[in-house]
Amino acid sequence: MFLVAKARNVVVAIVAIVVLVAGGVCIGLGAAKGTGMAEGKTVAIDPGHGGYDAGVSGKMGTRESDVNLSVGQYLAAYLRGAGYEVVMTRTTDRACLPVGSLKRQDMDERVGLINRAKPDLVVSLHCNSYPSVYRRGVQTFYSKGEDEAPARGLMEHLNRTVNAPLGRGFEAVWGEYYLLQKVRAPGVIVECGFLSNAEDEALLRDRHYHMLLAYQIYCGIEAYWGVQETGMWF
Ligand SMILES: [Zn+2]
Repeated sequence: MFLVAKARNVVVAIVAIVVLVAGGVCIGLGAAKGTGMAEGKTVAIDPGHGGYDAGVSGKMGTRESDVNLSVGQYLAAYLRGAGYEVVMTRTTDRACLPVGSLKRQDMDERVGLINRAKPDLVVSLHCNSYPSVYRRGVQTFYSKGEDEAPARGLMEHLNRTVNAPLGRGFEAVWGEYYLLQKVRAPGVIVECGFLSNAEDEALLRDRHYHMLLAYQIYCGIEAYWGVQETGMWF
């Protein structure tokens, strides 16, 4: 409905402004400022799921695989604009192996693609779902026994820029993550929000929010490498 859509747009616009102000950034239409830290660094982006595997979905029909891909494409653009090499496990709405493949084989295909690129960092993008509809926010995860620094660094940045203005905050959490265990590089899983929460789903349906979130993930990566992002130009 028009009224509902209009109200949602207002909410997204308000959240966008809050995120931008909290992040202390200036958004336009162009590439992120090169920092000099990017030289020779490669980031692997894994937009989770795809094709026959939509991942979790929200009440409004939002598919996790679509959100992951959109955020991943914006993140790739920001990183490339700053001079990083980027490799993506997928750039279209498809799994890495065709229908009928086992999930583990799809994951192995992604792991192989990532390891061949010899990245300095792996960012796997997902969306969350939870039995309680009240739980919301962006979270990072690391694999038990693996390097925790990327997840902790990104969580700290995302708490400050994305979660705190909305009254949210998390610690990086460990889990058993096949992809992170198999890749030969530090890695982090970013859960972009909860599709089980109506407000998060409204945000995660909006491409402008994908862009804002991707920009803050990009800034979090730079912060992890010790770069203080000062601004960007579009
Ligand atoms: Zn997922």
